[in-house]
Parts: sequence; C-alpha cells; structure tokens
Amino acid sequence: MLPLEQAVNNMLEQLPSPSQKEKLLLNTAFKRICAEDIISPINVPAFDNSAMDGYAVRLSDLQQSLTLPVAGKSFAGNPFTNDWQEKSVIRIMTGAMLPDGADAVVMQEQVIVNNDGTVTFSEIPKLGQNIRRQGEDIKQGEVVLKTGSKLTALSLPLIASLGIEEINVFPRLKVAILSTGDELVAIGQSLQQGQIYDTNSFTIKLLLEQLNCEIIDFGILPDDEKIFEEKFIQAQQQADLVITSGGVSVGEADFTKTVLEKLGQVNFWKIAMKPGKPFAFGKLENAWFCGLPGNPVSALVTFYQLVQPAIAKLSGYTQWQLPKKIPAITTVNLKKAIGRQDFQRGYYEINEKGEIQVKPIGFQGSHIFSSFVESNCFIVLEAERGNVFAGETVFIEPFNFIMG
Ligand code: AMP
Ligand code: MG
Repeated sequence: MLPLEQAVNNMLEQLPSPSQKEKLLLNTAFKRICAEDIISPINVPAFDNSAMDGYAVRLSDLQQSLTLPVAGKSFAGNPFTNDWQEKSVIRIMTGAMLPDGADAVVMQEQVIVNNDGTVTFSEIPKLGQNIRRQGEDIKQGEVVLKTGSKLTALSLPLIASLGIEEINVFPRLKVAILSTGDELVAIGQSLQQGQIYDTNSFTIKLLLEQLNCEIIDFGILPDDEKIFEEKFIQAQQQADLVITSGGVSVGEADFTKTVLEKLGQVNFWKIAMKPGKPFAFGKLENAWFCGLPGNPVSALVTFYQLVQPAIAKLSGYTQWQLPKKIPAITTVNLKKAIGRQDFQRGYYEINEKGEIQVKPIGFQGSHIFSSFVESNCFIVLEAERGNVFAGETVFIEPFNFIMG
C-alpha cells in the first residue's frame, strides 16, 4: 500500500500547470486564480496625509509659541495649496493631504480653540505624529499578489485600491463527473429493492463548485463495460479532468480498471489510508483521470486529500495548501488498527484551560456519511499508531473552505 503523501507527490509531479491565460475585468474575477504577479503602479498611501482630524503643525513654530493662528484648511480631496505663512497652523481632516513642511498633526481633542480663532497646544508634539507616510502600506513597483494566488474578498479589494481594472487569470478547470453502479438512482425517483440514491455526484459537484470548476455531469453509469468505454471517451473529449466514483475495486462489477487500461495510462493505487484505499489516477488521451471509491465517506475523503491538490495544480493555484495539522487532546478513546493512516471525523474546540481538545463524531465506518455533518476536522492518526486513549495528543486537520 502506498502512503498518501507519496501518492499526492506522485500526482503533483505528473500534473501540469495551465498553459493558457485570460484577461478579466476585476469585478468578474472573484475566486479565479491569478496568472500574473500583481505589481503596484502607485504608492499607497499616494501622498503623506493626516491620520486624525486636527491641526498640521511645524515644530519650529510651536517652539516659539504654543498659541498660533489658523492659516488655512486641508480637507480630504481638497488640499491646502496656498503659501503657509510662518508661525501658524493648518486645520486638517483625516485622509487630507499634509501641507508641505508640516512635521506633525495634533488631534483636535488635544487643543483649545480660543475666541479670537487662535488655537493653544498643551505641548510640542513628536516629530511625525499622526502622519501616514507615502508608500508606507505599499511601494510603487512592489509585488502585492503572486501568480497562483486565489482572488478572494481580501485580495481583490487590495488590487482595486491600486486602480487596476483588468487582470490575467487562469481558465476555469473543466471537470466531468460520472457515478457508476447498477444500484444508483438519481434523487427524485423512488427506490426499488436494492437501490440507493447517488450521493457521490452530489458531493463531488458541490466540492467542485467550491473550487470554482466548470462541471460537466455525465450522471449515473450502469455497470456495463461498453457504456463505461463510451462515456469515458466522451468525458475526456470535453473535460480537462474526469472524476468517477465507484467500480474502482476488484469486484466482479468493477469495470473502471479494465476500461481505463484499454483507453489510457492509469495507476491503480491501494493507498494506506482509511477511509479510502482504492484510488485510480492517470491520463486518458485528452484529460486527466481520478477514480474515487464508491463509499460516500471514502469518496469525500479521497476527494479532499487527493483530488483537491490535483485540481489546485491543474488550475494554477500554486499558493493552495491544506490547513496545517495541529496537536489536540482527545477526550475519548479512539479505535485504531495499525497499518493505515486514519482520517476520523472529529469535532474540535478550545476548553476552559485554553487547550484544543477533540472527539470523534459518530461511527467511523466508510458508509456512515452522517458523521461528517457535525464534524469540523479530521483526526489524523498515523499508520503505525494503534488504539489511542483519552488524554493522549493526536493531530487534527481543520476542514478548509470546501467543506463549508
Ligand atoms: P463500489 O466501489 O462500486 O463497489 O462501491 C462501494 C460502495 O459504495 C457500495 O456500497 C456502493 O453501493 C456505494 N456507492 C457507490 N457509488 C455510490 C454513489 N454514487 N452514491 C452512494 N453510494 C455509492
Ligand atoms: Mg459499484
């Protein structure tokens, strides 16, 4: 059996990054992957300005007198442009351009406005006080976002603040999905004896939507070698990546392997993970291929751990990574057989002592999908580990956004 990490690395080595780009208006680029380094054309702030409503002063004037007349005003968008006579101050608002020569701003709450219009300061302020300097956030020419980053509600406004209107992004990945199994029925139909609803196409579609892929749904395939062949050929003509579920083991109705060996180059891996184990990865003539196990929990866990990194690579999302594993204390005993890395579904929280604690949710069988609904992390137990006792430390992996 192959360790998961090795399987992922193996895939990532083979998969290419996208070769095409497209130019989009910034307001249509949400969730896309940036195909260029974004370089700032301007300084941010673009000019020295005031951080407060108050008075712009020259320290040399205040050294002569702490009471001075107001010589003019600088408002945001309406700077003071006249000559600034000696021994006076300028009324200034937050964000307003600092008049030439000013070396501090004093908050209006800290001055007394006299009846004759002069203002009295209580002390000489510090040099540079309450001044936002040109370029202190971003310098002109600085890279603000790297190629391979996702355009999010955090990064897009930053790009907008630089006045950049268009941006190069990678094309959305086209993904074909196929569920396999004679027993599967689409929702909305009534179940006959021995039939079950097709959960996996639902799961996979939603996860692909979260990853902003274009989805081509081929529906349910019966366990028939000829139909597999026909549909796999169609799917790989239309998509960059073909994802199937079910039929990937070695049962009598498992045709995925036979058909793929006929049509392309495919590796069948027994991955040392639970749930999961059978997983197919390879290449058809025009598309990459991932074959997930049929059990809904296994399908979701292998999608999360294996397909997600593959999609990131194919989409050009090089800045992608899973949340870091963090240590947590298990509050209950965990059943674990030595041999495979286990991804139990768990719920973590911070206890009164400020420690992270975790407990498994529900039964851990690979057909128990309900265990996912209330969980917020994987409890990742090492292959070589056996049963775990309450109070021991384990690693958890908080779910990322695709589970949201
Ligand atoms: P298989 O790998 O085809 O032998 O499937 C393993 C198990 O997963 C069987 O119990 C299947 O009925 C079940 N299964 C396969 N595909 C799906 C699906 N799309 N939705 C729900 N269960 C499935
Ligand atoms: Mg099957």
